[in-house]
Amino acid sequence: MIKGANYIGDELSAKGDKTFTTFNPQANKVTGWTFHEATKSEIDAAVLLASEAFNQYKKISGKLKAQFLRTIADEIEALGDALIHTYIKESGLPIGRAQGERGRTIGQLKAFAKLLEEGSWVEATIDAAKPDRVPLPKVDMRKMLFPVGPVAIFGASNFPFAFSTAGGDTASALAAGCPVIVKSHPMHAGTGELVAFAITLAAKKTGMPKGVFSNLNSSGNEVGQQLVLHPNIKAVGFTGSFNGGMALYKLANERPEPIPVFAEMGSVNPVVVLPSALNEKGIDWAKQYAASIMLGAGQFCTNPGLIFGIKSTSLDNFIKTLGTEIATLEPNCMLHPNIHGNYEKGKEALSIQGGVNVVADYESEVQPNYARQKVVTVNGTNFLKNSKLHQEVFGPFSVIVRCEDATELSTILKALEGQLTGTILGSEDELRKYENVVEALKSRVGRLIFNGVPTGVEVCPSMQHGGPFPASTDSRFTSVGESAIKRWVRPISFQNWPQEFLPDALKNSNPLGIMRLVDSKNTKSAI
Ligand code: NAP
Repeated sequence: MIKGANYIGDELSAKGDKTFTTFNPQANKVTGWTFHEATKSEIDAAVLLASEAFNQYKKISGKLKAQFLRTIADEIEALGDALIHTYIKESGLPIGRAQGERGRTIGQLKAFAKLLEEGSWVEATIDAAKPDRVPLPKVDMRKMLFPVGPVAIFGASNFPFAFSTAGGDTASALAAGCPVIVKSHPMHAGTGELVAFAITLAAKKTGMPKGVFSNLNSSGNEVGQQLVLHPNIKAVGFTGSFNGGMALYKLANERPEPIPVFAEMGSVNPVVVLPSALNEKGIDWAKQYAASIMLGAGQFCTNPGLIFGIKSTSLDNFIKTLGTEIATLEPNCMLHPNIHGNYEKGKEALSIQGGVNVVADYESEVQPNYARQKVVTVNGTNFLKNSKLHQEVFGPFSVIVRCEDATELSTILKALEGQLTGTILGSEDELRKYENVVEALKSRVGRLIFNGVPTGVEVCPSMQHGGPFPASTDSRFTSVGESAIKRWVRPISFQNWPQEFLPDALKNSNPLGIMRLVDSKNTKSAI
């Protein structure tokens, strides 16, 4: 069923001579599927189609777009086991994870469908005219959100479903009214092609314009760069490495017309273990954190890579238990030999830094591409003066920092780069007592967790998945949850515009029955 071709709108296209294969990390051999990289003319064709599609797609009602999203979800489900097996083959991830991630992806599509059916997300705001206002009459002003145009989405290696072809970026952009061109991730191009087939079929079944979605293959930088530089592309979504995200961000800013790049580039997700957590539940937390570090072979953007405590016997016990516990867990397969290679290099580079001591290092033989977990410890002074220790090692590796006192802990937290999440383990009394520590952590993160683990990202409207740079390029936005739609829209105001020519969301009669802000009051009433 896998053809190795690009989807340019609803047509398969394989004009290029440059091909690549995907890799099965469990079997440690190529999958046997060959993919044709998109050529310049195929990229241009996809963008042209997307631009034409935009003229129609932006006018399609929320209810019809919702039907499109729900049909994509159905078509993904209809792919059944073939899709799950392709995912497993190309990622090395286990079946439970594949099924869970497919469920999350379907859930995300349906959540955006629901948002569109309800309709109030466009933030319709109306300030009625006041002809009698003195000294000057007030004009009639109305504002709402509109889609920006075709967007380019870069699939993530570590989420072949939920952050890739029909993942949160694509679902939110299609919901906003933007055609999507996916730059498929080369590590799971087969999974991407099957999902692209499902999206294309759903577009046909629901009468969406040709070109509302395209899927391009590539195993090098050129295709992505050409997409980002194309004048008809109006925004970019990316999840991956800092180097990749920044290369695309810079490129987008150097265009004659710069465009936003919403790049999520990783995080070490600092965890602060306060004294009460160590004294009362230190052993439990150590066990939970050993499991959290190991989850998905540590290949989560929310993996806890840094753990801080104030030096004490109970911190020593916590470190000892975490070390013993994590050493008993079985290593997992990583996504690709390259990712495994980067992990091994990154882990060793950090382990040889000054003052670093090993807490746990899984030394037994493992199969190729399996990640051997490692936990190290360092004191606050050494950590503070060595920024290498602040960097993410993508995999099951964590650094535990023994701080001298709460003042050193706050100083260290303030010195960290921006993060997706920050966690406090402790009591409510300690949130008061260690207010400076909490404030320091809050200033560096997008999501604050109390007495939990950062792995596991709830998909809901209140989720913030995006933090200060370099966790993401714009901390005002999220890539998870319904608010992710805000990345692909811009507000337009209408001044003294005649009723007949206003969008339905802004008409006096409120034909869509949505919640609006009318003269500073939230209401669904007509005017
Ligand atoms: P990546 O190397 O950043 O690649 C992600 C996507 O961006 C790929 O489609 C890649 O395309 C493209 N890309 C990368 N650099 C580019 C450039 N200079 N110009 C144009 N396109 C570019 O990330 P990855 O392959 O997913 O994984 C590599 C490393 O990234 C991991 O080892 C890990 O350290 C990190 N990572 C972090 C997270 C996180 O959530 N924190 C998630 C995934 C990966 P091509 O490969 O076709 O060039």
